[in-house]
Amino acid sequence: MTDEEFDTLAMRLALDQAHNALLAGEVPVGAVIVQRGPDGYQVVATGYNRPITTHDPTAHAEIVALRHAATLLGNYRLPGCELYVTLEPCAMCAMALMHARIKRVVFGAADPKTGAAGSVLDLFAEKRLNHHTALQGGVLAQPCGDVLREFFAERRARRRALSDAPPAVEPPPIPTGEAVELAVLPPAPAEGEPGPASP
Ligand code: ZN
Repeated sequence: MTDEEFDTLAMRLALDQAHNALLAGEVPVGAVIVQRGPDGYQVVATGYNRPITTHDPTAHAEIVALRHAATLLGNYRLPGCELYVTLEPCAMCAMALMHARIKRVVFGAADPKTGAAGSVLDLFAEKRLNHHTALQGGVLAQPCGDVLREFFAERRARRRALSDAPPAVEPPPIPTGEAVELAVLPPAPAEGEPGPASP
């Protein structure tokens, strides 16, 4: 298997993980961590994006996979590992991958909004931060991006359908408490008449 073929194979595994995120109602991003040796390769860990379901803003696919891999290998550093992720890493994930001394990061689609591997900024190219992690983008970029585009298009359509639909229940009646209070007050004395007698 050539390196290019291996990258495609590993990215397909990451795409499977993105579909798991989709099934969980999360933004579909998936990651795998692999270790290559003379005897072949081993998938060390997988992860998919799940911040909503786990109430964890840091639960991006890369972080989920990193935590699994570090636990399984019993080491907070993973210098022999390569991480494949379907979307360009954000700044949080880029730094976490560098802290883990990941050997190589490969991503699929670029993220023009939060990408920290060349789109918005490139933390991997910042030599003051990173001496360890090689970077490659654009592997299976089209299918990796398509799953995201379909997810957001569907979500927009669902929101539009909800806002166009008639309300499911009658709107609540206008509160009448104020009018009731006015009705039970004694009538105001007419001009020229004496007010209510004091005790
Ligand atoms: Zn991230």
